[in-house]
Amino acid sequence: KLSKRLQQIADWVPMNSRLADIGSDHALLPTYLAKENRIAKAIAGEVNPGPFDAAVRQVKGSRLESIIEVRRGDGLAVVQAGEVDCITIAGMGGGLIVSILQAGVDKLKGVQRLVLQPNVGEDLVRQWLREEQWLLKAEHILEEDGKIYEVLLAERPIEGWNADEFVQADKTMYASRQLNCGFVLDEQWLLKLGPYLSEETVSDVFIAKWQHEVNKQERILNTMAKSDAEETAERREQFVAYKSELEELI
Ligand code: SAM
Repeated sequence: KLSKRLQQIADWVPMNSRLADIGSDHALLPTYLAKENRIAKAIAGEVNPGPFDAAVRQVKGSRLESIIEVRRGDGLAVVQAGEVDCITIAGMGGGLIVSILQAGVDKLKGVQRLVLQPNVGEDLVRQWLREEQWLLKAEHILEEDGKIYEVLLAERPIEGWNADEFVQADKTMYASRQLNCGFVLDEQWLLKLGPYLSEETVSDVFIAKWQHEVNKQERILNTMAKSDAEETAERREQFVAYKSELEELI
């Protein structure tokens, strides 16, 4: 059985996909999907020797070598253009996910769907998707073992792709809007919070995540108070402002 987090990612991999799972670690995700007959084939990419060996063992042990190929390499270097139509990258920071995607943009031609699960820096991922004209189609937030995860689903249809439609959809998605409480979600906030996740009825997990962020800002402010000399008044003001905006939001 998969973890809740990996299950959410698996659920967003289209039936019969040719999948690349980058940073696959024990190849749990492609193994599950192959066992369930939900993918045509998969590449499990790993850059580090330990996880790479673990993935090889997992695939062999499950006798899935005909479906899953484990390849050793950095990010999308293990994939050839046109080889896959869905890519999953999960369990690493948003900055690393973006750098993997950016370094491999030429491999993304022919890819229709990205399922991304940044542990932090979700806004970096959303921003990259916009810049590269990947349409954010859905977001999910979930809690497991005391940790909160966000999963992002982005698409770029191979046929019938219309740049004007993308621009229009993107504009609507990131247009400033006012919540019932009066809080104005502008583009920066939407990138941070997620345009779908911050729609009118936000989930309890969403609230928990941002309450946690408020607490973190509180701790930073307390630390600042103790080591006064190093922090400028301006920086302190920024933190106070950010924290109170967050408090208003939740
Ligand atoms: N994707 C799995 C999941 O979500 O459960 C494993 C996540 S694990 C925390 C992150 C994995 O990414 C590690 O096994 C690490 O070796 C791998 N990794 C980190 N940077 C990578 C890169 N540039 N290319 C391929 N794999 C990478």
